[in-house]
Amino acid sequence: MREIPVGKVEPSDYDVVIAGAGAGGLLTALALTAEGRRPLILEKSDRIGGVCYGYDFEGYRIDNGLHVITRVHHGAFTRFLRTYLKPPPEFVLHEGWFFRVFDKVGTIPASVGETLTWPLTGMRGRLGLAKIGAKIKTMKLDEMRKYKDISFLEFMQSKGATNQVMLDVMQSAIYMAAGVPIEQASAYEALRTLKDTDKESSKLGSLKKLLFGSGAEYDEGVVIGGMQALIERVAEAIDGDIVLNAPVERITEQDGHVSGVTANGEDIPFSRVVSNIPLWSMPAIVKSDRAEVNDFFQEWDHMKVTRGLTLWLGLNKVVLGDRKSRVIVHPNPNRWMLSLSSFDPTCAPQGRELIGIATMLEEGTTIEAQVERMKGNGLDEYYPEIFDQIEMEHVQTSYATRAALIPGQTALDRPGPHTPIQGLYIVGTDTAGEGVGLQQAANSAEGVVSALNAGW
Ligand SMILES: Cc1cc2nc3c(=O)[nH]c(=O)nc-3n(C[C@H](O)[C@H](O)[C@H](O)COP(=O)(O)OP(=O)(O)OC[C@H]3O[C@@H](n4cnc5c(N)ncnc54)[C@H](O)[C@@H]3O)c2cc1C
Repeated sequence: MREIPVGKVEPSDYDVVIAGAGAGGLLTALALTAEGRRPLILEKSDRIGGVCYGYDFEGYRIDNGLHVITRVHHGAFTRFLRTYLKPPPEFVLHEGWFFRVFDKVGTIPASVGETLTWPLTGMRGRLGLAKIGAKIKTMKLDEMRKYKDISFLEFMQSKGATNQVMLDVMQSAIYMAAGVPIEQASAYEALRTLKDTDKESSKLGSLKKLLFGSGAEYDEGVVIGGMQALIERVAEAIDGDIVLNAPVERITEQDGHVSGVTANGEDIPFSRVVSNIPLWSMPAIVKSDRAEVNDFFQEWDHMKVTRGLTLWLGLNKVVLGDRKSRVIVHPNPNRWMLSLSSFDPTCAPQGRELIGIATMLEEGTTIEAQVERMKGNGLDEYYPEIFDQIEMEHVQTSYATRAALIPGQTALDRPGPHTPIQGLYIVGTDTAGEGVGLQQAANSAEGVVSALNAGW
């Protein structure tokens, strides 16, 4: 992909304009390149990748936030990378989720057998968990869809599943995916996350998994080389041009069809536009006289987003040294901790360890106070060795996903890839598609590419 100034854009050189170079926009451009189409990307900021990027800091290579790629073997995101990048990037899988409730540690049980020996609660709690676990494991997607408009807590209460430790552990698991607590998270999205499936499995398969566990390794991992290098490889593979520092200010319509975009004051006529711009910005950008169009975009104007806080620690010796995803459930706040250098030693100087700790950013409390709370509240008590070895400390804040998975904002509610304007498509985490985060961005890109293919 070549960088050009906006004044050098010649519309007839391109098949499609993509507004925004986040994961959704770049994956769309990658797939279109493979089909011989030339994209022009207009990006608001001075770099590509959107929220996906990384940089060097005091000798460590740091991503923007902890990025564990879900569905490494079976997801749309890695399918794009395997199909279009040669050689495909390498992923190292994690060893699973380990939830700490005070001095006890356990995983989310994968089978009835594991539930009945779950260390985090007593026998009554285990029996309750076995009952609700069986219900969730055997539930089909169609049935889950019925719960899209109630919260996960309401769902659990309606099934009599009220054991507090179980709810607290589920709260931590759902929090990471939905970006909101279980009293706000859509039950449909929470159930899908817990069952971890985008596809239906056979009844027999579900029953076998339920009784004996999945027997499979965790299909989630970290990319070797970091997110920045990954995004740069995607950009290299795209045969098209990009204009940086070029916010799209207007998308115009004529006779029901997209007619062009305005970026940096330049009007660029175009009849095929893919927008990777967050949906909440679109009402100010799309210019139309039709109520249908304005209603469509205004519906997403007040989308609830989630914000994340990541604390990076560089340790002058290896303390954790494993690939466990540790979730500290109690005492609050829920925190997720990963030793990145145990996946990819090149992100830390030799003999050192890079640890990332992530949580949701709270409104109304200073970042300093939240960081102090992240380091305390159990972390200092259960992992004191970490604190003796800190040589680098770095704090990041960001939104973790463009739309919280609450009732009314589930994958089922999302409008993409089509819009009421012909030739204008939307892509990105908040637009459409199953899964969370990068999977959702990749699923939405697949949707846009097939919609474009139907209309060339
Ligand atoms: C801290 C953190 C941790 C995360 N962890 C994970 C994880 O572990 N696993 C996972 O799968 N996902 C994770 N995610 C989520 C994942 O990174 C995002 O869902 C995904 O990268 C978002 O892609 P997107 O296409 O929706 O767009 P975005 O990244 O939002 O990109 C949109 C692009 O459009 C550009 N833009 C905006 N307005 C305009 C305009 N007017 N004109 C032109 N360009 C414009 C922006 O500058 C940006 O480049 C995490 C995210 C964060 C922030």
